[in-house]
Amino acid sequence: MNDKQRLAEIRELLNGYSYEYHVLDNPTVSDAVYDGLISELKKLETTYPELITPDSPTQRVGNVPLAGFTKVAHSARMISLNDVFSREEVEAWIERTAKLLAGQRPSFFCDIKMDGLACALVYEDGVLARAITRGDGTVGEDVTQNIRTIKNVPLRLRKHKFSQGRTEVRGEVVMYKKDFEALNARRISQGEPEFMNPRNLAAGTIRQLDPRLVAERTLHFRAYDLQRSDSSEVPTHMAAYEALTELGITRNQEAKVFEYIDEVMQFVSSWDEKRNDLPFNTDGLVVKINDRSLYDKLGIVGKNPRGAVAYKYPAEQATTVVKDVVISIGRTGAATPVAVFDPVVVAGTTVQHASLHNADEIARKDIRLGDTVVIYKAGDIIPQVESVITELRPKGAHRLNYEEMLHEQYPELEFERSDGEVVYRVKGLTGPIILKRALRHYASRGALDIDTLGEKNVDALVDAGLVSDIADIYDLKIDQLLEIDRFAKISADNLLKAIEDTKQPELAKFLFGLGIRHVGIQTATDLAQKFKRLDTIGTASYQQLKDVEGVGEIVAESILVWFADEDNQAMLAKFRKFSVWPKDSVSTGNKLAGKKFAVTGTLSSMSRDAAADKIRQLGGVFQSSVGKDTDYLVIGEKVGASKVVKAKQFGVEVISENSLIELIS
Ligand code: NAD
Repeated sequence: MNDKQRLAEIRELLNGYSYEYHVLDNPTVSDAVYDGLISELKKLETTYPELITPDSPTQRVGNVPLAGFTKVAHSARMISLNDVFSREEVEAWIERTAKLLAGQRPSFFCDIKMDGLACALVYEDGVLARAITRGDGTVGEDVTQNIRTIKNVPLRLRKHKFSQGRTEVRGEVVMYKKDFEALNARRISQGEPEFMNPRNLAAGTIRQLDPRLVAERTLHFRAYDLQRSDSSEVPTHMAAYEALTELGITRNQEAKVFEYIDEVMQFVSSWDEKRNDLPFNTDGLVVKINDRSLYDKLGIVGKNPRGAVAYKYPAEQATTVVKDVVISIGRTGAATPVAVFDPVVVAGTTVQHASLHNADEIARKDIRLGDTVVIYKAGDIIPQVESVITELRPKGAHRLNYEEMLHEQYPELEFERSDGEVVYRVKGLTGPIILKRALRHYASRGALDIDTLGEKNVDALVDAGLVSDIADIYDLKIDQLLEIDRFAKISADNLLKAIEDTKQPELAKFLFGLGIRHVGIQTATDLAQKFKRLDTIGTASYQQLKDVEGVGEIVAESILVWFADEDNQAMLAKFRKFSVWPKDSVSTGNKLAGKKFAVTGTLSSMSRDAAADKIRQLGGVFQSSVGKDTDYLVIGEKVGASKVVKAKQFGVEVISENSLIELIS
């Protein structure tokens, strides 16, 4: 699906959701899913402004008023609010408005955002004359009879200068959480279906044609705005709130005015937890320019005022697209599918992959490549795929065949699935064999180079059950080793000492030693050069990884998936616990950036490995044979003629060991 098709499909899908939410009062997806798709739509519309249609949900407030009610035009449009999700976005908003206000420093009015149904109450000479739902913002439904049944809506305002003439009060009709729960409990006991949420129940109730039914359900009205035809009568939003109280209208007592963004953010964070204790549901906070003449001067763009934003708390759900499904083989030989996503923020952190657990789970949820999925993350729990939005499935996306995927990704291995098991495992490979391989690799010359930890010692440690992953070698005790036949005091001491000596390894070697699929020493060196620290590599995004030269999609995914694996994370935690951690890679400059070297013969001043290390540290590439792309062939002693001939053919510069030393010193 290309961007333009996707834009059209998202718009159509959202219009459907919006109809279910605003007209039927019966949403089928969470607000987080709706909001996630809206922000994707906004982004697409910024790229393709010519594709913005008047019916786009980014352009419209609410929905068409219901038939059955009299339609009434609003005196001034009822608007929506732009969402912001972080301090950075609040700052950007303040910066934008400051530019438009040319030097005038505004103060900020902050209140809790109520999740209800917006209504305008019109009082004439202090008497409730009409109540109108927001509708499409311009025209709403006359729900006066129903609003009159809400006990905290005064039918007559208290005596005040605003109880003369026309006063319009805007606010939200909400159902308190306790009333909602009690009602649902009653319905369950009567075998009736539960209501979805207080917001939609409140909205559905207000739009009932029979006011008696409305009166049976306890609703509340809480105001957030007061308008007079002469706007100078209400100079600030705080002044409007004070007047509301004097008029006998409920409004949030929590609202406050601040001068500085730090105070605004303090207000935001103070409500992060506390908001759950409020009697009604909230989906965030509202921040407005307090001075109403400035607020009005800023005006409206599209359907949102420039002078206000809605701060939304991080949602625990989001939508994203499945880019790929990569299978990782764990320590026990179990194959686990992992979905790789376009990065998306869920509950405050960026998520770019989630375990799909096993083949059955993929089949049950019918997850396909290119699918838009709903992912969720409750608290600190790891992200999961909840469901697929099948309406946004690209044409031609076919069901995933797990066995085919296993074969494609691991052509060299065979897998089997025992009866009654959901997990595929590598055939003939048991946990210990995989662990032995991993340890041998970790201890090998190119990696941590622990020469006393050879094949036989590795076998002995694993067979004796002393290690369950690589990190465990740092926890070995002399007494444990002495119980194994192979070891005597001296050999055990030597082994422990050799292991101990590798506790602050070089980052590239450690990374290579971890045995991440597709990460050879060259890639490990490039990653170390670029990111400097292991933590940074572990948290790098797919794109950041791909930006490293020589790291393509497959390698980037493989790194992501390795760090996403719970066993691997547990192993990294163990390394830390045993005080084993790679040194930060220091910048050694990029003197040899991209230059490719091959060596023939024996070098007299250093080993071939040492030369390779040095070349890599300086940003160069070490090749095991001469190729068309080789830049330098270094000639050592006892040189075979064939490499030199080849080098000449390819036009590769042939240099002496001394020239190499000059280049790398
Ligand atoms: P909005 O929720 O972003 O906020 C604007 C509204 O907040 C104002 O119009 C006002 O009525 C209200 N508000 C509450 N407290 C306020 C306060 N203290 N001060 C000022 N205003 C206050 O925008 P929206 O246009 O009302 O509706 C969009 C919302 O509806 C989103 O949260 C969206 O997730 C939800 N929605 C969900 C679905 C679904 O299928 N789940 C579909 C459509 C819309």
